Amino acid sequence: MVYIHPTHERVDPVNNLKKRQLDLSRHLSVEAKARLPNPIKAIWKVAQVKPGTINMGNGDPHHTLYPVCEMNFIVPSVSESDPVQAWRAGTGDQQIIASYKDEPCALSLRTALAYGAGAGLKHVRDALAELNDRIHAPPKHMVSLSLGNADALTKCYRLLGDPGDSFLCEEFTFSAMTNAALPLGIKWVPIRMDKDGLIPSDMEKILANWDETLQGKRPHVLYTIPCSQNPTGSTLSAERRRQIYDLAHEYDIIILEDDPYFFLQYDLDIQTTTIESYGYTRAMADVLPRSFLSMDYDGRVMRLDSFSKILAPGMRLGWVTCNDFFAEKLDMLTDSSSQHPHGLGQAFISELLGGEGWGVDGFMKWVSSLCREYQRRRDLFMDVFRREVESSGLASAETPKSGMFVWIKINVERHPRYRKSEKLDKPGAPVTNTADLMNELFRKLLDCGLVMMPASTFAIVDQTGRIPTDGHITDRVNFFRATFVGTDEVIEDGLKIFARGLEEFFCY
Ligand code: PLP
Repeated sequence: MVYIHPTHERVDPVNNLKKRQLDLSRHLSVEAKARLPNPIKAIWKVAQVKPGTINMGNGDPHHTLYPVCEMNFIVPSVSESDPVQAWRAGTGDQQIIASYKDEPCALSLRTALAYGAGAGLKHVRDALAELNDRIHAPPKHMVSLSLGNADALTKCYRLLGDPGDSFLCEEFTFSAMTNAALPLGIKWVPIRMDKDGLIPSDMEKILANWDETLQGKRPHVLYTIPCSQNPTGSTLSAERRRQIYDLAHEYDIIILEDDPYFFLQYDLDIQTTTIESYGYTRAMADVLPRSFLSMDYDGRVMRLDSFSKILAPGMRLGWVTCNDFFAEKLDMLTDSSSQHPHGLGQAFISELLGGEGWGVDGFMKWVSSLCREYQRRRDLFMDVFRREVESSGLASAETPKSGMFVWIKINVERHPRYRKSEKLDKPGAPVTNTADLMNELFRKLLDCGLVMMPASTFAIVDQTGRIPTDGHITDRVNFFRATFVGTDEVIEDGLKIFARGLEEFFCY
């Protein structure tokens, strides 16, 4: 059997890789350690190295028989001063970006539509590596494309998790993703949160008091959503990020930084003079929060970015930035499963970020304009919320600094049927009927024609789907996640229904 070791681009100049320092092999799952490279892809990569090599070995259909020669995308022009507003109003200029099979363009359809490498096409990765460099300036990291953060996360779980492993996460989290780890036998260890997100001292307490004889192997992975945490909408401060990174370093934890809302930040003090002198990318980089990736000096951060929230979720395109060792293992998994992200999405992104499209700086201009529009919607939401809902004293909410979510606290203790027991049945068990009342309220709102996501949906569950009764979490599920991304009418109408439903429920 011919065996060719994968020649992952270790000398990619964009990523400026140096030899890795830390031995991260202990973090790999049994599955990842056992995985062999896709032997056909290994030969395919070798065949790419020497231009002019005749490849009679691959099973690709011939490109002259692809039934497409050109694709045009009509996109808003970013020459407008506020491109998102001009696009919404239909008054702005548009531009056509084109991909051709045989004519010159950023990424030919001939390449985009052929089988490619699991890491994605170099054009796209180079553009994203440039964006990364200018925003996070990560030392010694590589970029691999994903089908969005959900795809990337599930692959990271398989890369790092074995049955019986415990992973840390926020106590309320994006349960679609934590549940995805349960069939792999991964157990979640929730860390307490407050209005500012994950509490580092609680993380430290869990790690310092971990007893391997009682609790099994100590956690070696933290899954966190640092910006617009889903569902709580909180954004970690720079100080907390530093504390969490230091703890990860001290306890040898890999950080899965799931950050699809990173670019949607509000109340940013973007300097016009910086835009004029250096462009939008630099001006945005100066004010965006400092990512875990940007502080990662020993390669323990796997950062997951996505186009879902800033372009469109159906693009199914994102990117993972991590050390070369994990990148190689991740790409091997993709090479042997989904193969690579789809070509049309990669063609679109290449043209959009390329010289004939928006370019990286134009993309950042679009993003900053998008931030202004979502900030307007957030402000409208909060104004209506204060007027219609908070004034009753039945609910309250913090103004989120980023993303799409408001975490609405229901003052459930004001309900006439609220009960709190003074004696504990067993340590950590619920002492209130909060969960039952919130369930009733959820159904009441549904009857009124409104869906809000109940906090219990985001609490960590065990393998049987039940919320563990230790830790009093069911006494703290008196929240709803609401989103402010809708139209002005949806915000006005939705919050009026919410106010009416709440009042009827509390008067019951
Ligand atoms: N992670 C978080 C925190 C999310 O909120 C979402 C989507 O809502 C995802 C991941 C999935 O993102 P993607 O569309 O990139 O797969």
